[in-house]
Amino acid sequence: MPFVSLPWLRENWRQLVNEYASGNLNHAHCLPWQPDLGAEAFIKEWLKLLLCTQARNRACGVCKSCLLHKAGNHPDYYEVASQDGKVVSVDQIRELTGKLQQTPNQAGAKVVWLRDAERMSITAANALLKTLEEPTQSTYFVVSPERTERLLPTLRSRMQLHRFNVPDETAVAQWLAQQLERVLTAAEQQLCKRYHHRPLALLEWLENDSVPADYPQQLASALLGDSGWPAPDKSSWRDWLLATEHLLNELVRLKQGLGNEHLQLVSQQEQLTRWLTEKNYQVTELNHWLKSCYDVRRKLAEQSGLNGPLLLQELWTRLR
Ligand SMILES: [Zn+2]
Repeated sequence: MPFVSLPWLRENWRQLVNEYASGNLNHAHCLPWQPDLGAEAFIKEWLKLLLCTQARNRACGVCKSCLLHKAGNHPDYYEVASQDGKVVSVDQIRELTGKLQQTPNQAGAKVVWLRDAERMSITAANALLKTLEEPTQSTYFVVSPERTERLLPTLRSRMQLHRFNVPDETAVAQWLAQQLERVLTAAEQQLCKRYHHRPLALLEWLENDSVPADYPQQLASALLGDSGWPAPDKSSWRDWLLATEHLLNELVRLKQGLGNEHLQLVSQQEQLTRWLTEKNYQVTELNHWLKSCYDVRRKLAEQSGLNGPLLLQELWTRLR
């Protein structure tokens, strides 16, 4: 999906371009890797603009720098990422900083895209920190961790942190109808409420008629007594564990009184809020259960022979 077709990212883009045009652009940027919001298209467009030697609101697409990048061999563009799911190593960062010391090959800037940044080793993160503290001239870093808060605080403080705008359900419904070139059904409107923070995933599901089972919503129904508790088995308990974490995070957001745009189970919002009041649960308790989820996850990763479905059901018993 091209970047121009993602209207909710326009404001993000406008801000970056304004800073760029005014010459006040920070040399290091951290953007969360949220593919369902269009992070990939956005970041790639941003990298293009940084490399372009005559960019205005977008990369020109025709200068030598743009053409080199398009062909995949711009000598001043560097991409560092986790390989085969391993951590991003200190050697990878050192190799990068070594190359950055050299003078640029082209007239423009040197641009680095560091992907999978949440999987950096501590030594790699520290090596990167040093580079960010003493940046080489006209070098831009774009760092994209899955979640910004998983980076070292010292590292975060050296970068400009960005958040992608999340469209509301009305905007998503409008956009989807445009993309699908038809009117949405009532069920699809409901899905826009539920998944407004994941518009690209939603489009893919509707195009392929493959909307996945909504585990967090099913769990919420069970919690509220509207339906029975699910029976996780060997193949599904990991998804249910993840759903439990999603539900608990949603309960925390409700307790904190966050608005609809931050909520995911909007249709159950009122009932869940009432349930929280009846049970008199506080954020501390919810966080405690979240920690229990992480403990279950960790235990099962460390020890073989444990019964995942059973551990999960025990956790649910305590919760309700
Ligand atoms: Zn250009």
